[in-house]
Amino acid sequence: MKAVVKYGKGKGLMEVRDIPEPKIAKEDDVLIEVKAVSVCGSDLHIYHDSHPYWPPVVLGHEFSGVIVDAGKEVKGWKVGDRIVSETRTGSCGVCYICQSGFPQVCEQKRPYGIGINGAYTKYVAGPARLLHALPDNISFEAGAVIEPIAICVTSILERSQLQAGESAVITGPGPIGLISLAIAKAAGAKMVAVTGTNADEGMRFQKARELGADFTINAEKENPIEKVLQLTGGLGSDILIETSGSGRAISQAFEMVRRLGRICAIGISGKEEVPIPYDRGIFKALRYDFCFSSSWTAWEKAIGMISKGLLPAEKIITHKLPLEKWEEAFHLLENLQAAKVILIP
Ligand SMILES: [Zn+2]
Ligand SMILES: [Zn+2]
Repeated sequence: MKAVVKYGKGKGLMEVRDIPEPKIAKEDDVLIEVKAVSVCGSDLHIYHDSHPYWPPVVLGHEFSGVIVDAGKEVKGWKVGDRIVSETRTGSCGVCYICQSGFPQVCEQKRPYGIGINGAYTKYVAGPARLLHALPDNISFEAGAVIEPIAICVTSILERSQLQAGESAVITGPGPIGLISLAIAKAAGAKMVAVTGTNADEGMRFQKARELGADFTINAEKENPIEKVLQLTGGLGSDILIETSGSGRAISQAFEMVRRLGRICAIGISGKEEVPIPYDRGIFKALRYDFCFSSSWTAWEKAIGMISKGLLPAEKIITHKLPLEKWEEAFHLLENLQAAKVILIP
């Protein structure tokens, strides 16, 4: 079968290769036919060698599909079931972190498309315990963006506990910023503002308005701190969702959020260190929530919200391409012309 393989350590070194179809390795595994796979920012980082990965590896951790084979010990699933899968393959299940209910943060984790072969191909084999049912009223394409949605649900609703009636500022209108916006609206935020730069004036701010942003703030044209204070009656926002990873936005976040507010950090900076106004954080008694990966419960919540029409997952998708056009997908994302790009194997 054709697969997009990152075949070595270093920049680039990725191509379509013919590889053998995977088989069920353990009796509690399933074989999944991939119906749609979404391109993630971390796939681009792997391409550029700026994210951990274990080559040679087939990329792709955001996917949906159908079960085509199941091991003897698989319970509750059958051939033909529409599914999505979590990506925490390799989590040990027995360490302190796993036992405390957070296997997605286990040190042993080797995710699909990063540590073991992923979904930029026709078939994926992996453990049935990571599956979630994909309701009939959610398309395979929308199913492929449930993974990043689950990450944002884990971060915003579970960890930073955004409440209905609160105000939210989102720094960065990239895919994760746009998904965060949709979640904040679905959760009943009273005001959501999204900040960005001149480069975001095209597709990204347009998409943000389409998804219900009350305000878009171009930080290169107006002072985002002054604007947020003005929008919140001088108080600052209840929660600030940092998705840009930009040092400047991270520093400004401390000023845009209110006293006792929460900064929900989802964006990776890609740098060794980022300076922060530490004492401002102390004097404002801020909570800085570092967030990573997704919980089992967040997957169920994400699926529930999409299925009930509360979260317009389809709207976050801007492009659908055949798998062979993966390079075009990467270019669209790097040139900020796309939100979510779906590849069809
Ligand atoms: Zn991802
Ligand atoms: Zn563990």
